[in-house]
Amino acid sequence: MKIACLQFNPIQENTYVVWDDTAQCAVIDAGNSNERENAALRNFFEEHGLRPAVAVNTHGHFDHTLGVEWLRTTYGIPFALSGKDRFLLENASVSGQIFGVKIGAMPAAPDIDLDTVPEIHFGDTALQVIATPGHTPGHVSLYEPQSKSLFTGDTLFRESIGRTDLPGGDYSWIMRSILEKILPLGDEVRIYPGHGPESTIGHETIYNPFVVEVLGGEVNCKN
Ligand SMILES: [Zn+2]
Repeated sequence: MKIACLQFNPIQENTYVVWDDTAQCAVIDAGNSNERENAALRNFFEEHGLRPAVAVNTHGHFDHTLGVEWLRTTYGIPFALSGKDRFLLENASVSGQIFGVKIGAMPAAPDIDLDTVPEIHFGDTALQVIATPGHTPGHVSLYEPQSKSLFTGDTLFRESIGRTDLPGGDYSWIMRSILEKILPLGDEVRIYPGHGPESTIGHETIYNPFVVEVLGGEVNCKN
């Protein structure tokens, strides 16, 4: 699987385009927010001969969904998100105001509820859906086992974690998600976060203070 990262919108969100030899692609967390960014994404598809098959999201925060409705209507593709994050689509314009970001059209609901499917397919590739709640109630991470690539959204960043003080966030949940769902995938797994640079799970077990703390049993995350 090939992976490209395009950074979009004032929140500097990482939008990932992933594809395989079939030239079908998935767009993970489409954050393109204006004509210029839409054109950058369209040009990327055209330069690489890619056909979008699905828009899939780790979670429903507006900085990760700004480009979804454009993808749905331009390419006629479905949008996949956990139904538990649907309320965030409804809240997007209010959240955008708080962050000073103008919010365009948003889908009313996901076409595919990630709570009901184990994998999302495009071309010959399957992305496993791993529930990692905490940053939001419906946050998922997406894992492609052959390339050992994990899209962690705003759960796990290089040497940090996502905030849990926004509506629906929960600190003990995010730490349990990291401990029980992400770290067991193995040190060599490469992580692609929703903001900032990539990393590996092995790097995070040494240099991420939140991961070090939870591995040391210093976080009560079992409640
Ligand atoms: Zn977020």
